[in-house]
Amino acid sequence: MNAMLYLVPTPIGNLSDISERCRQTLSDADFIAAEDTRVTLRLLNHLQIKKPLVSYYEHNKAVSGKKIVERILAGESCALVSDAGSPAISDPGEDLVRLCAENDIPVTAIPGPCAAITALSISALPTGRFTFEGFLSTNKKSRKKHLDSLKTEERTMIFYEAPHKLTDTLKNLCDAFGAERKISLCRELTKLHEEVLRMRIGEAMEYYAQNDPRGEYVLIVEGAPELQEETLSQEQALAMVGELIAQGMSKKDAVKQIAQQTGLSKNELYQAALKT
Ligand code: SAM
Repeated sequence: MNAMLYLVPTPIGNLSDISERCRQTLSDADFIAAEDTRVTLRLLNHLQIKKPLVSYYEHNKAVSGKKIVERILAGESCALVSDAGSPAISDPGEDLVRLCAENDIPVTAIPGPCAAITALSISALPTGRFTFEGFLSTNKKSRKKHLDSLKTEERTMIFYEAPHKLTDTLKNLCDAFGAERKISLCRELTKLHEEVLRMRIGEAMEYYAQNDPRGEYVLIVEGAPELQEETLSQEQALAMVGELIAQGMSKKDAVKQIAQQTGLSKNELYQAALKT
């Protein structure tokens, strides 16, 4: 095997998803760099592969990455795996790939399971153009900044989320995109209890007020409605606000929804609506 880095995707829940090429690469590499060696050991036992493992994860990536690069430069081949899915997608593999590139070490990726793409493809939301947003920060300020930057994003958006943060995240998504925006909540993908809930963000909030979130989630969120070629005038936006009020919505909620839909300033629209 060539002295280089091989990115080896591993199953995200169903062990049968390991491909023949992945199995072969794990078996032929001189050593395997793993995010959690215990998780990878279970996979290797299942595949009946015995191979030296080194740990490469968030908190040792600087030191471990350097050692891995030295070994590859000395002629060894390395297979990189993460806990599940495609290495380097929302995991520290990203840094190892960069380090190898900086050291002129060839890197190849074997295609395989990736939670983001698996979820997107069954979301029933547009897949033609999408943006991968990974995990939202746990820091409130950066989380808000991130979501604010997506308010007028027209492409379908993909987020990763852990179950214990789901209800807070849904609330944050609702503040940024409105309760009416469509969302597909994809959990336990490829596992026995795989589930896709296709609903509006507001409905998802209600659902998870009654049901405990369980398992790993990928959230697929519909993009913002396409803005008209020329931006809507305030007058047209006010007419849209008027229509919603006529349907029974409060002025405040109507302004909020139309501001989100049109990208116009909520405050300015509200001030103008007060005068009507
Ligand atoms: N590199 C991985 C990939 O290619 O999918 C993702 C790693 S990231 C650290 C882990 C996140 O992926 C989880 O928190 C969850 O959002 C998502 N995920 C992984 N497996 C999943 C599954 N079986 N069902 C739903 N989401 C999953």
